[in-house]
Amino acid sequence: MNLPAYEVWFITGSQHLYGDEILKQVAGHSLKMVEELNATAGFPTKLIWKPTVKSSEEILSTIIAANSEEKCVGIITWMHTFSPAKMWIAGLKALRKPICHLHTQFNSEIPWSEIDMDFMNLNQSAHGDREFGHIVSRMKLGVKVVVGYWKDREVWERLDKWLRVCNAWADAQDMKIARFGDNMNNVAVTDGDKVDAELRLGYHVDYYPIGDLVGYVEKVTPSEYGVLLSEYDKMYEFEPEAREGGKKRTSVVEAARIEVAMRKFLEERKIKAFTTNFNALHGLHQLPGLACQRLMSEGIGFGAEGDWKTAALLRSMKVMANGLKGGTSFMEDYTYNFDGKNSAILQAHMLEVCPSIAAARPRLEVHPLGIGGKADPARLVFNTASGRGIAATIVDMGNRFRMIVNDVEIIDTKAPLPKLPVARAYWKPMPDLMTSAHAWILAGGTHHTSFSVAIDNEYLEDFAQIADIEMLVIDRNTTIGNFKKDIKLNDVYYKIMK
Ligand code: MN
Repeated sequence: MNLPAYEVWFITGSQHLYGDEILKQVAGHSLKMVEELNATAGFPTKLIWKPTVKSSEEILSTIIAANSEEKCVGIITWMHTFSPAKMWIAGLKALRKPICHLHTQFNSEIPWSEIDMDFMNLNQSAHGDREFGHIVSRMKLGVKVVVGYWKDREVWERLDKWLRVCNAWADAQDMKIARFGDNMNNVAVTDGDKVDAELRLGYHVDYYPIGDLVGYVEKVTPSEYGVLLSEYDKMYEFEPEAREGGKKRTSVVEAARIEVAMRKFLEERKIKAFTTNFNALHGLHQLPGLACQRLMSEGIGFGAEGDWKTAALLRSMKVMANGLKGGTSFMEDYTYNFDGKNSAILQAHMLEVCPSIAAARPRLEVHPLGIGGKADPARLVFNTASGRGIAATIVDMGNRFRMIVNDVEIIDTKAPLPKLPVARAYWKPMPDLMTSAHAWILAGGTHHTSFSVAIDNEYLEDFAQIADIEMLVIDRNTTIGNFKKDIKLNDVYYKIMK
């Protein structure tokens, strides 16, 4: 994915009381930390060192500058020394970017035989950061807190996650989502308040009549779709009849034409996510399957049947996962296999599953679709590699958006599926199918999810906190009793607080 050169500002707090000599050391230490982190931690976002802030005015002006710097997607704060927190009120009131409080210390160990009061006065994070924490708590700011020695890998990993979430948050703030056709008629869970989605999450959702896209399909030239056909030939296994000269080849050619048209349509409008609806395809010869799969694998968000919330979340998760091992895809709960403790869910969609999660080279096939009444569409068929993942959704509860995340374990299917012509995953949801499905239903979650093996639920927790939306996690520790209490507590919280 081609993301902008995002940056996060590293702001060290102190005060004038310490005098020039100590403040010089404070600045030197924080600069060394930023330089070393940038060089060694492998972060996806560059840290930008800022001069130590020592007064209310300096804090406010630094934060106003961070707010207006387009490349700046968040700030990290650290109190090397004591920085009286009333000085931070004006700045934190003005802050419009995500914030992480890194609670660390320049040195790792106490120099037992050397330590004196000069050392004590310089290395005061243990109390300086607690003073800062107080005002953040009192102002009820959603702050990511990372605690630990700054050279430790665990600290890097937690910062790395948050930086990725900041990138996704910045990406969401101008995210255009195109709906080709409306939401599927009568479907409740995939619908929602598009005005509130833009207010809360930045998502801008527009409708486009399918005819606008058909206009693009009609203009695609043989040389344009020829480039894609040779790409398909190189990248995928093929059902023999879908190869050049085979009797299903015309369906593959049509799929390539749709892909060229869709990519052009989206690129011209800088659209980051889109939806289709198999019920609204007037003028298109087949449901776009292959095109959706391939656009997803390039980082575009997708949701079927007009599900714009899942399309948008998928895009955000793909930004978080950018460059990480493992894929991220649109997915749907299809069919259960009840088998006691090993009960699991077969996941798939009519066609649109992202090949980034494929266990092996996908196979390009053409088959009829039992629904929608259109010509046979081309699609990539594959299994998902076993391992851990998450399935996530955002639903509209009327007075708030609710994110629900379930940890899942992808396992091998019990046998090959020779008659199932779609890409699929097979997973055991945590803590077990009965509890997971029970909790998911209590939470009002979708049948569609955004699924990833590249990221874990901490990313989405950070994202929900920045967006200030509700978050429910279903994991190894979930019990139905506690989950019901969480839902009731959240209902009260959102009634009183929001
Ligand atoms: Mn669906």
